[in-house]
Amino acid sequence: MESKEAVICSYECTFCTECAAGPLQERCPNCRGELVRRPRRVAKEAQDT
Ligand SMILES: [Zn+2]
Repeated sequence: MESKEAVICSYECTFCTECAAGPLQERCPNCRGELVRRPRRVAKEAQDT
């Protein structure tokens, strides 16, 4: 499930915000890129028109 917010780096590695704020220090351990908040996916349904 993806109920929690997540962060993402420029190489699209995703982590939960708790890990990013804690042990990862807002850095991606894979590519050392900066982790930023990923926009949450919103259910798109009949909102337009
Ligand atoms: Zn990365």
